[in-house]
Amino acid sequence: MRKAASSLQPPASSLRPLARILAIGDELLLGRTIDSNSAHIAQRLSDAGLTVDYARTVGDSEAAIIAAMRTATRGAALVVCSGGLGPTEDDRTRHALARSMGVRLAERLAAWEHVTAWYAAHRPGVAVPEVNRRQALFPVGTEILDNDRGTAPGMLGRIGGCWITCMPGVPHEMHAMLDRLLGQLPRLVPGLAAPTVGEVWFAGLGESAAQERIPGLLSERDPLVGITVSELGHITLRAVGTPLQVRTRLRQLRAALKPWLLPRAGLAASLVHRLATEDGTIACAESCTAGHAAAQILAIPGASAVLRESLVAYHAEIKTRRLGVPARLIAQHGVVSEAVARRMAEGMRTRSGATVAVATTGLAGPDGGSAEVPVGTVWTAASTATGTIARRVRIKGTRERVQRRAAAEALYTAWVALTGTP
Ligand code: ATP
Ligand code: MG
Repeated sequence: MRKAASSLQPPASSLRPLARILAIGDELLLGRTIDSNSAHIAQRLSDAGLTVDYARTVGDSEAAIIAAMRTATRGAALVVCSGGLGPTEDDRTRHALARSMGVRLAERLAAWEHVTAWYAAHRPGVAVPEVNRRQALFPVGTEILDNDRGTAPGMLGRIGGCWITCMPGVPHEMHAMLDRLLGQLPRLVPGLAAPTVGEVWFAGLGESAAQERIPGLLSERDPLVGITVSELGHITLRAVGTPLQVRTRLRQLRAALKPWLLPRAGLAASLVHRLATEDGTIACAESCTAGHAAAQILAIPGASAVLRESLVAYHAEIKTRRLGVPARLIAQHGVVSEAVARRMAEGMRTRSGATVAVATTGLAGPDGGSAEVPVGTVWTAASTATGTIARRVRIKGTRERVQRRAAAEALYTAWVALTGTP
């Protein structure tokens, strides 16, 4: 993500209108809430053709919000704020907007009717608390944005030549309101054209090695090409520009990365797609990944047609009894070993009848490990009718990360076994 953000900075020559995002709330600065709103807003605004040149987090202090609103509206076409529209005293966004616009707050009947109607529908028999009157206060001259999912309507105002909108912090309320606001973009920012976006996905080649195969393309501006490394084992190259620019660039990227290309965004999606088109199936024998491989496969719509089963074969005895891994093989090589991973995959393929079976055995930590088998060591194997392959990886990080990454590595091993990727 970090990489993608830095390489997707707006071109200096860009004629796209600028947009900025303010996430408001002390809980964001305390790290209690992760600011998912800004990510959502940024994605929607850039898809619509605006260049988001920054997103900022501000606490609940009115002075800080005013300063942020004044700075953000300078030179931009649209500023989207979320949070601080609640009924409580710490919610200061509406006051800050009024002061930034240089107007006073006035009660708006339509907004009050919305608050009372919402209470009548969702809290029958409960009188509207007096504090909720605040939610009917709007800076004079602002437009009211309907909220069909909560009490606080949003507001749309203008500072200088810039539109500024304030929406509730609750993500699902904000999402619906933003959808409707984007429907009004032609009126707010006339002439805006959504850019063409194209993606290329690949796996099995690191970002540095990929960069060497596409020299210069990541620093070009027209089209803008960004690179994102996924935690789930694949890399995305995203081109943004005119249809012709994007088409030409994608053709170049695909040619340069041909052996490593994935047909879909991610290993799981690519595997499911490939197996489904060939009437193939997959099964998993999972030790250290504890079901993550199956979960990653099942997260893909259509996976029910290809996943046969997944067995969490954790205890050595289960590896022997259920998958046929000889006990002496485990004793001889150790449970985290190539030999055991291979036999697990082969055992699972025979028992499940799947086209490809994958297996994992590793040390997720944080304890245990030795000089030969340090924490984070994972063997993955994949078995098909033509043979079995195994790969060893070393994954750094928490137990949870090792499990998730190891599962993605297992899916990559299956991909290699099916496609013969280098
Ligand atoms: P409320 O009426 O609930 O007070 P509000 O507009 O004042 O709404 P906040 O109090 O700021 O919004 O936040 C309400 C909820 O939305 C909280 O659970 C908060 O964690 C969540 N939230 C607020 N801002 C964000 C954000 N930027 N990203 C994700 N969640 C957020
Ligand atoms: Mg609040």
